[in-house]
Amino acid sequence: MAIASQQSRESTAPWQTHTVFNQVPPLEGRDVFASNRPLVEATSREGAGWVSERASALGRLIGGAPQQEWGRLANENKPILRTFDRYGHRIDEVEFHPAWHQLMRMGVEHELHSLPWTSDEPAAHAARAALYMTAMQAEAGFACPITMTFAVVPALRAQPELAAEWEPLVTATSYDPRLVPAGEKGSAIAGMAMTEKQGGSDVRANTTVAHPLAGGGAGAEYELIGHKWFCSAPMSDLFLVLAQTDEGLSCFLLPRILPDGSRNAFHIQRLKDKLGNHSNASSEIELHGAWARMVGEPGRGVPTIIEMVGHTRLDCVIGAAAGMRAGLVGALHHTAHRSAFGKHLIDQPLMRNVLGDLCVESEATTALAMRLARAYDEAHADAAAGADSSDAQLFKRLATAVGKYWSCKRAPNHAFECLECLGGAGYVEESGMPRIYREAPLASIWEGSGNVMSLDVLRALTRAPRALEVFFAEVELAAGADRRLDQRVVELKHQFDDPATLETRARRVVEGMALCLQGSLLVRHGDPAVADAFCASRLAGDGGLEYGTLPAGADFEAILARSQPEL
Ligand SMILES: Cc1cc2nc3c(=O)[nH]c(=O)nc-3n(C[C@H](O)[C@H](O)[C@H](O)COP(=O)(O)OP(=O)(O)OC[C@H]3O[C@@H](n4cnc5c(N)ncnc54)[C@H](O)[C@@H]3O)c2cc1C
Repeated sequence: MAIASQQSRESTAPWQTHTVFNQVPPLEGRDVFASNRPLVEATSREGAGWVSERASALGRLIGGAPQQEWGRLANENKPILRTFDRYGHRIDEVEFHPAWHQLMRMGVEHELHSLPWTSDEPAAHAARAALYMTAMQAEAGFACPITMTFAVVPALRAQPELAAEWEPLVTATSYDPRLVPAGEKGSAIAGMAMTEKQGGSDVRANTTVAHPLAGGGAGAEYELIGHKWFCSAPMSDLFLVLAQTDEGLSCFLLPRILPDGSRNAFHIQRLKDKLGNHSNASSEIELHGAWARMVGEPGRGVPTIIEMVGHTRLDCVIGAAAGMRAGLVGALHHTAHRSAFGKHLIDQPLMRNVLGDLCVESEATTALAMRLARAYDEAHADAAAGADSSDAQLFKRLATAVGKYWSCKRAPNHAFECLECLGGAGYVEESGMPRIYREAPLASIWEGSGNVMSLDVLRALTRAPRALEVFFAEVELAAGADRRLDQRVVELKHQFDDPATLETRARRVVEGMALCLQGSLLVRHGDPAVADAFCASRLAGDGGLEYGTLPAGADFEAILARSQPEL
């Protein structure tokens, strides 16, 4: 009786000023993979349908604690640098919240870092892309070490004895964050350190020097002295590092723990205070005579490490698609439940245009990322068969740069528009949207900023002019299916007529390449309503500079239905 009357007093108490209504229910218990129809379709299309069940299991996991809690906790509790122990010994360790380790463990156990290197299944890169795109919707920060661990393998293979020692460790499916010898724990996480204070894009300006300890050369031991201005995931077990030798810039494998079990002279100066990506640690380091072994030939550091860089760029594209999907899901869910001016927001004509445009972009980026992943499958198969400039290899090289430039450029504004669909609530941390927004610009800067990627497209074409033919052959698989695409392809070809101004026009040219490739993919394989809206707005100019400017005749019903976050 006493409790009942207490409750009734609470409900009529003067501080009960209002009833909460017109708020959005939590989006829980979802299969993040199966409910992502464009991704499910692309996964099958690119030859990796066999991974669907596995991706669904991961999708159900991601839709639970990783998305709701781990990502938030890992970001709210930023990593802390412990330079010394309490007795004054240098330890250079970074302390993370347990949620970070849960994310890392989940990533490693689901083989996001290793699948293409260990699986005998076809289209393993495409399969991994589907898993990665699903997982990164929970949180993007842990993508950094997962990606670098994935990407280190092809570079390590330049030095077979080092690959024999380290590949089993970096592809292991157990995660152990302790800073102990990797052989002892049976697994390893990898990082990379190229950028220095005086230059990141222009790594040939590196001043870190490497002195041979006994003769030198490929695979030999060196001592490194210098600094690195950005070194993410500094708690990793090994790093690929660039340093100058007498023969020029060379690539080195630098372990944090030395073969005798002691710590390498890898000193973390401080952690970066970043715009976003808060869960992940990015550091400045100094190498005070750090022990390392050369990977690849002396003076061939850039061609050696570029194998790693290329694979990280692939992940930038997949990550951009993941970020867009995560933001879009938040926007679609919110607008489906929130009403204003007498209707659910999702039913307001102008909001349908905004959401539709965001769906189109998300689908186009997903299609591009998955096609690119297949290019990696095909290129690796050709390399295994002894080819070194097959069509697939040329396409992969060019489309990676094109895709990284464009998808990463489109991501920040996409995140912002998704955020705005939630109104004020989207600006508040607990919606999760600010985290997606802050993360969005990073992939565009990392591993080749916008201009550098555009120039990389031109470089790829200078090195292998046939790549352009291969690229257009892929785009023209859709020839005749949509006149707007056909017309845009003709215009794009003319963009190459005046080589003298190509560098100045590089962004515009690369944008055109990305749009034609995305258009071709959507016209061939996508939903007709999505392809039509894409061609009208992105290829034929019937759209504006902001999202929400699709032509009024677009089939919004069909476009929105495909991207609904719930099955
Ligand atoms: C969060 C974070 C984590 C990172 N982690 C790592 C890491 O783990 N390891 C690592 O090695 N690096 C890392 N980086 C560094 C990153 O790769 C570099 O910042 C990036 O490559 C750009 O180099 P920079 O900062 O020296 O800029 P700069 O090279 O000075 O470039 C500045 C601007 O000039 C443009 N530019 C450069 N050259 C040209 C040109 N020829 N024509 C026109 N424009 C040009 C660039 O596109 C860029 O916009 C990280 C960066 C961030 C933000």
